[in-house]
Amino acid sequence: MNAQTRDDLLDRCIAYHGHLCVGQALGVRLALKGMELIGTSDPKKMIVFIENDRCIADAIQIVTGTRIGRRSAKLINYGKMAAAFLDTEAGAAYRVNVRHLTSEVTHSKEAIRETLHVPDAELLVWKRVKVSMKPEDFPGPPRRTVNCSRCSEKIFDGREVSSNEGSLCLSCAHGSYYEIVEEYR
Ligand SMILES: [Zn+2]
Ligand SMILES: [Zn+2]
Repeated sequence: MNAQTRDDLLDRCIAYHGHLCVGQALGVRLALKGMELIGTSDPKKMIVFIENDRCIADAIQIVTGTRIGRRSAKLINYGKMAAAFLDTEAGAAYRVNVRHLTSEVTHSKEAIRETLHVPDAELLVWKRVKVSMKPEDFPGPPRRTVNCSRCSEKIFDGREVSSNEGSLCLSCAHGSYYEIVEEYR
Protein backbone atom coordinates (compact mmCIF):
# COMPACT_ATOMS: atom_id res chain seq x y z
CA MET A 1 0.00 0.00 0.00
CA ASN A 2 1.77 3.14 -1.08
CA ALA A 3 1.66 6.51 0.59
CA GLN A 4 -0.64 8.05 -2.00
CA THR A 5 -3.20 5.33 -1.50
CA ARG A 6 -3.41 5.83 2.25
CA ASP A 7 -4.03 9.54 1.77
CA ASP A 8 -6.68 8.78 -0.85
CA LEU A 9 -8.40 6.40 1.54
CA LEU A 10 -8.33 9.04 4.26
CA ASP A 11 -9.93 11.50 1.86
CA ARG A 12 -12.74 9.03 1.14
CA CYS A 13 -13.26 8.58 4.89
CA ILE A 14 -13.42 12.33 5.45
CA ALA A 15 -16.00 12.66 2.67
CA TYR A 16 -18.23 10.09 4.39
CA HIS A 17 -17.56 10.99 8.03
CA GLY A 18 -17.72 14.76 7.64
CA HIS A 19 -14.41 15.84 9.11
CA LEU A 20 -10.74 15.05 9.33
CA CYS A 21 -9.93 13.56 12.74
CA VAL A 22 -7.46 11.23 14.39
CA GLY A 23 -10.13 8.54 14.35
CA GLN A 24 -10.30 8.58 10.55
CA ALA A 25 -6.53 8.10 10.27
CA LEU A 26 -6.54 5.35 12.91
CA GLY A 27 -9.51 3.69 11.25
CA VAL A 28 -7.60 3.63 7.95
CA ARG A 29 -4.62 2.01 9.68
CA LEU A 30 -6.72 -0.55 11.59
CA ALA A 31 -8.60 -1.53 8.44
CA LEU A 32 -5.50 -1.84 6.27
CA LYS A 33 -3.68 -3.94 8.87
CA GLY A 34 -6.69 -6.16 9.42
CA MET A 35 -7.12 -6.82 5.70
CA GLU A 36 -3.41 -7.51 5.33
CA LEU A 37 -3.51 -10.03 8.18
CA ILE A 38 -6.50 -11.97 6.88
CA GLY A 39 -5.22 -11.70 3.32
CA THR A 40 -8.35 -10.35 1.69
CA SER A 41 -9.86 -6.99 0.90
CA ASP A 42 -13.10 -8.47 -0.42
CA PRO A 43 -15.93 -7.26 1.84
CA LYS A 44 -17.95 -10.34 0.88
CA LYS A 45 -15.26 -12.55 2.42
CA MET A 46 -14.85 -10.82 5.75
CA ILE A 47 -16.69 -9.77 8.86
CA VAL A 48 -15.27 -6.90 10.86
CA PHE A 49 -16.02 -6.40 14.56
CA ILE A 50 -15.60 -2.73 15.41
CA GLU A 51 -15.12 -1.99 19.11
CA ASN A 52 -16.49 1.53 19.34
CA ASP A 53 -19.17 3.65 17.76
CA ARG A 54 -17.01 6.71 17.25
CA CYS A 55 -14.95 7.98 14.35
CA ILE A 56 -13.08 4.73 13.61
CA ALA A 57 -16.36 2.94 12.97
CA ASP A 58 -16.99 5.05 9.86
CA ALA A 59 -13.42 4.83 8.57
CA ILE A 60 -13.20 1.07 9.00
CA GLN A 61 -16.44 0.55 7.05
CA ILE A 62 -15.30 2.86 4.25
CA VAL A 63 -11.85 1.27 3.89
CA THR A 64 -12.98 -2.36 4.15
CA GLY A 65 -16.24 -1.93 2.23
CA THR A 66 -18.05 -3.79 5.03
CA ARG A 67 -21.32 -2.34 6.29
CA ILE A 68 -23.35 -2.77 9.44
CA GLY A 69 -26.47 -2.99 7.28
CA ARG A 70 -24.93 -5.82 5.25
CA ARG A 71 -23.99 -7.65 8.47
CA SER A 72 -20.37 -7.65 7.32
CA ALA A 73 -19.52 -5.08 9.99
CA LYS A 74 -20.60 -5.60 13.59
CA LEU A 75 -20.57 -3.01 16.32
CA ILE A 76 -19.28 -4.52 19.56
CA ASN A 77 -19.12 -1.43 21.69
CA TYR A 78 -16.30 -1.95 24.18
CA GLY A 79 -15.33 1.70 23.84
CA LYS A 80 -11.94 0.67 22.48
CA MET A 81 -9.81 1.73 19.53
CA ALA A 82 -9.79 -1.78 18.12
CA ALA A 83 -11.34 -4.08 15.57
CA ALA A 84 -11.19 -7.76 14.73
CA PHE A 85 -11.19 -9.06 11.19
CA LEU A 86 -12.59 -12.49 10.35
CA ASP A 87 -11.86 -14.21 7.06
CA THR A 88 -15.15 -16.02 6.56
CA GLU A 89 -13.68 -18.55 4.10
CA ALA A 90 -10.60 -19.68 6.01
CA GLY A 91 -11.99 -18.87 9.45
CA ALA A 92 -8.83 -17.02 10.49
CA ALA A 93 -9.28 -13.89 12.56
CA TYR A 94 -7.03 -11.16 13.87
CA ARG A 95 -7.70 -8.38 16.33
CA VAL A 96 -5.86 -5.10 15.88
CA ASN A 97 -5.77 -2.32 18.45
CA VAL A 98 -4.14 1.06 18.65
CA ARG A 99 -1.02 0.84 20.80
CA HIS A 100 -1.15 4.19 22.51
CA LEU A 101 -3.01 7.42 22.10
CA THR A 102 -0.90 9.99 23.85
CA SER A 103 -2.83 13.02 24.96
CA GLU A 104 0.11 15.22 23.96
CA VAL A 105 -0.54 14.36 20.33
CA THR A 106 -1.22 17.59 18.54
CA HIS A 107 -4.22 17.09 16.39
CA SER A 108 -3.12 19.39 13.62
CA LYS A 109 -4.07 18.28 10.14
CA GLU A 110 -0.43 17.53 9.44
CA ALA A 111 -0.06 15.43 12.60
CA ILE A 112 -3.18 13.45 11.74
CA ARG A 113 -1.93 12.78 8.22
CA GLU A 114 1.44 11.71 9.61
CA THR A 115 -0.38 8.99 11.58
CA LEU A 116 -1.03 7.36 8.22
CA HIS A 117 2.66 6.68 7.78
CA VAL A 118 3.88 5.63 11.23
CA PRO A 119 5.24 2.06 11.02
CA ASP A 120 2.65 -0.61 11.89
CA ALA A 121 4.52 -1.86 14.97
CA GLU A 122 4.77 1.61 16.47
CA LEU A 123 1.08 2.33 16.12
CA LEU A 124 -0.69 -1.01 16.35
CA VAL A 125 -0.79 -4.28 18.24
CA TRP A 126 -2.27 -7.36 16.61
CA LYS A 127 -2.97 -10.90 17.62
CA ARG A 128 -4.55 -13.95 16.13
CA VAL A 129 -7.92 -14.63 17.72
CA LYS A 130 -10.81 -17.03 17.44
CA VAL A 131 -14.20 -15.46 16.87
CA SER A 132 -17.28 -17.52 17.59
CA MET A 133 -20.31 -16.53 15.59
CA LYS A 134 -23.81 -17.88 15.72
CA PRO A 135 -25.14 -19.02 12.31
CA GLU A 136 -27.91 -16.40 12.56
CA ASP A 137 -25.32 -13.59 12.72
CA PHE A 138 -23.89 -14.23 9.24
CA PRO A 139 -24.93 -12.20 6.20
CA GLY A 140 -27.83 -13.56 4.18
CA PRO A 141 -31.59 -13.76 4.63
CA PRO A 142 -32.92 -14.13 8.19
CA ARG A 143 -32.85 -17.75 9.30
CA ARG A 144 -35.54 -17.32 11.90
CA THR A 145 -38.23 -14.84 12.85
CA VAL A 146 -40.60 -15.14 15.80
CA ASN A 147 -43.19 -12.86 17.35
CA CYS A 148 -42.73 -11.64 20.90
CA SER A 149 -45.39 -13.21 23.14
CA ARG A 150 -45.82 -9.98 25.07
CA CYS A 151 -45.60 -7.06 22.59
CA SER A 152 -46.20 -9.24 19.48
CA GLU A 153 -43.56 -7.37 17.45
CA LYS A 154 -41.53 -9.49 15.05
CA ILE A 155 -38.01 -10.46 16.12
CA PHE A 156 -35.36 -11.38 13.55
CA ASP A 157 -32.11 -13.25 13.79
CA GLY A 158 -32.48 -15.17 17.03
CA ARG A 159 -32.56 -12.09 19.25
CA GLU A 160 -35.48 -13.48 21.29
CA VAL A 161 -35.15 -15.07 24.73
CA SER A 162 -37.35 -17.90 25.95
CA SER A 163 -39.38 -17.49 29.09
CA ASN A 164 -42.38 -19.19 30.67
CA GLU A 165 -44.50 -16.72 28.63
CA GLY A 166 -42.90 -18.01 25.44
CA SER A 167 -40.42 -16.13 23.25
CA LEU A 168 -39.82 -12.56 24.37
CA CYS A 169 -38.01 -9.71 22.67
CA LEU A 170 -35.03 -8.36 24.58
CA SER A 171 -36.92 -5.20 25.38
CA CYS A 172 -39.80 -7.06 27.04
CA ALA A 173 -37.48 -9.56 28.72
CA HIS A 174 -34.83 -7.24 30.12
CA GLY A 175 -36.24 -3.71 29.95
CA SER A 176 -35.69 -1.21 27.21
CA TYR A 177 -33.75 1.93 26.36
CA TYR A 178 -37.13 3.70 25.90
CA GLU A 179 -40.31 4.18 27.91
CA ILE A 180 -43.68 4.48 26.20
CA VAL A 181 -45.12 7.96 26.78
CA GLU A 182 -48.26 7.70 24.67
CA GLU A 183 -49.44 5.01 22.30
CA TYR A 184 -51.20 5.68 18.96
CA ARG A 185 -53.27 2.95 17.38
ZN1 LIG B 1 -14.27 12.05 13.63
ZN1 LIG C 1 -41.69 -7.74 23.17
